[in-house]
Amino acid sequence: MTYRFVDRLSGNACEVQAGGTLLGRFILEPFGDEAIFLNSVAISESAYCVPDLRGQWQLLQPGQERIEGTISRTQVLDRLDTSSILDVGTSIEGVISSGGTWLDALGVSPLVPGMSERAEFQDFEKFLAEHLGHLIEVCKRPRTHLRVEVERTAVSRARRVATQASSYLAAHTEDWDRPTLRAVIPKRILSLVREDQYDIYENRVAARLVDHVDAYLSRRVTEVSRLLRLFSAAGDHRSTAGQGSHWRQRRVYQLWGSSIDAGDARRKAERTLEQLKYLKYSISGLMDSLLYREVPRRAFVGTTLTMTNILANDAHYRRVADIWLAWARLGLEQSPKPEKHFEEMQALCRCFGSFALLLVIRGLEQLGIEPVDLSQSLAGQEIELTGKGARVRLSWSASDGVLRLAVDDGKPLRIVPIPASVAMLPDDGIASLMRDADVAGSLDEITLVLYPSPSTEVAFQRMEPAHAHRLHALSHEIAEQGQTKAGFLPVSPWDLTSVERIARQLRWVISAPAFLAYPPTFANPLVAEFAANAPWLKVSGPEVVVVRAPGSHEALSVAQVLEAEKSRLVALEAEHADVSQQLRMAVRDGRASGPLNGRKKGLNAEITDLQSRIGFLTSLEADLAAGVAVVQSLLACPTCASVADPRRDFKGGPGHRFSCECPDCSTQWGAEACPNCTAWIPTLLPAVTSWTVNEAEVGWLDRFLGADSLAVPYKLERGGLGYVCPSCGHGRASAGSGFTFRQGATA
Ligand SMILES: [Zn+2]
Ligand SMILES: [Zn+2]
Repeated sequence: MTYRFVDRLSGNACEVQAGGTLLGRFILEPFGDEAIFLNSVAISESAYCVPDLRGQWQLLQPGQERIEGTISRTQVLDRLDTSSILDVGTSIEGVISSGGTWLDALGVSPLVPGMSERAEFQDFEKFLAEHLGHLIEVCKRPRTHLRVEVERTAVSRARRVATQASSYLAAHTEDWDRPTLRAVIPKRILSLVREDQYDIYENRVAARLVDHVDAYLSRRVTEVSRLLRLFSAAGDHRSTAGQGSHWRQRRVYQLWGSSIDAGDARRKAERTLEQLKYLKYSISGLMDSLLYREVPRRAFVGTTLTMTNILANDAHYRRVADIWLAWARLGLEQSPKPEKHFEEMQALCRCFGSFALLLVIRGLEQLGIEPVDLSQSLAGQEIELTGKGARVRLSWSASDGVLRLAVDDGKPLRIVPIPASVAMLPDDGIASLMRDADVAGSLDEITLVLYPSPSTEVAFQRMEPAHAHRLHALSHEIAEQGQTKAGFLPVSPWDLTSVERIARQLRWVISAPAFLAYPPTFANPLVAEFAANAPWLKVSGPEVVVVRAPGSHEALSVAQVLEAEKSRLVALEAEHADVSQQLRMAVRDGRASGPLNGRKKGLNAEITDLQSRIGFLTSLEADLAAGVAVVQSLLACPTCASVADPRRDFKGGPGHRFSCECPDCSTQWGAEACPNCTAWIPTLLPAVTSWTVNEAEVGWLDRFLGADSLAVPYKLERGGLGYVCPSCGHGRASAGSGFTFRQGATA
């Protein structure tokens, strides 16, 4: 074998999967010199397993049996999704290949490029609207070729007699009615029959133009409708009527605001859509016209027109030709070639990975995490980041498109972008994908599968509700004791909340370990000396627990004591040197050395003791500083970044338990114990003025809290809030059950 077939869900090589597969899930890595063909294209570097134009894929090695499989057509994204992913992905690839930095990548918008222009009535459409009348005229009253044929017809139906009629009749007695003395009375006779022939080149041009323009308008109506939905969603986020936390609204609007004015764009899109629908209505009507019906369905016309007399000179046909030429200039009608299709599918898989990278970069930026070195180029496929008291390493692979985020003291995150239209799969297809993703994961890392958001929410309403929820849930939100669960999230340049969703996952990976690092603990024998007036420490013997950050007047005097002891050591050492000198002099002069000897011994012991004391003080100072840094990092509000007061807003407790409330925005965060298992649950909840959650609503967490959440909140029967346990899943049954609560709601 001269290749590896890798399942990207697990990252491991596996048997080649013949039969039905998922677009972009598997990757083929060739090695050695032997040629390998994927879909009849020779490949030399790793390539994604993608369908050909017929929805199949084949793997061929010279001298070996061909391996074949299918990839259902429903998984292939439509033109609009594909082109937007290609556009955004290519921009990011450009930034990386040109040695761009983090900030350059942040300059790329994760939304559909050129939205504003696409929402406008295009030049071709204006031209079409202007000359549509001519096309209608041609379809209603087409020109025809007059065809005259000689046919044997009954005498009663004959209009013009053909010249050869009499000689033919003389030879065909069966056509006689009866002979008379002087002549023959014919029954049937050869006559000239005139017929209008519609199937001429010019009419074929008109009929096919109707087809092309109809297809074009369908695409545009879909495109502008989607833009309109996007603009409306953006408009809602800005209005106070929009639901969910206003932090989330503000972020989404910021992302949007840098692109365009939503209200203006929406009005423009509405106008364009109306015009397009009118055009589409008129064009579809032409499919019922005489011309369209008379020209055979399969009559083909090449893109380059032959300018016949009629097309060049007829007042109406001339305009039809003009419309055709304008349409041809758009360059839409390229029947795809197999190689080109293969390349485009590969580019789609790569670009979806680059798009995912952009979302992660944006998400990290949103959480306040930045590169250690801002000038570092992204070309190295790895970058060190810091922020929120955490150190993080983000890496990505150009060959398989998998992203990794490693966090100090936390589980690493593995993001697998899969460009298949997962939401369009049948229920059993979704179920088996989820099963495979769960099996492929490991308990030591968090797996997140990204897939393209479907063009409408209807796709989620169509599937089993459990599947729809799971396709929006992160690994810890659907936890079950002792089992690995992969998270799934939809993302797309057409989806305003893509960044927000990724940021929710990133928040979990980065903040959860930091929350559970509370409380910092260490041991030091000297701590009792200082702890008496330090209510922020809990000391028993040498054990120290840093319960909260010290207030401004609560700092310990360790540093000063250390300084004093260090000077005392210097003095003692000087005295020791002096005594040694005196001792040497006494020995040389033959004087009594007993008392000096005793003094020196005493000094030796004193110095050793002091040195060890200084050692403990030094480590106490360092451990305290580290512990204080941990509790201090917990004081920064995750939503508004204000710093809470350690005495007023922060409450520490046994185990990992703590809670904190932001003095500015009333966001609450902390850690609490699971009532079912021994695990701890990190929590975060911004103050929401009022929201109602509908349990049936897919992706409610996305919509209401976005990135400002850790464990999933739910309402307890006895009032207050509970959180779904990320270890055993306790409380999940009631997650998101309908509840409304007001500002400052407390558990
Ligand atoms: Zn705050
Ligand atoms: Zn639990």
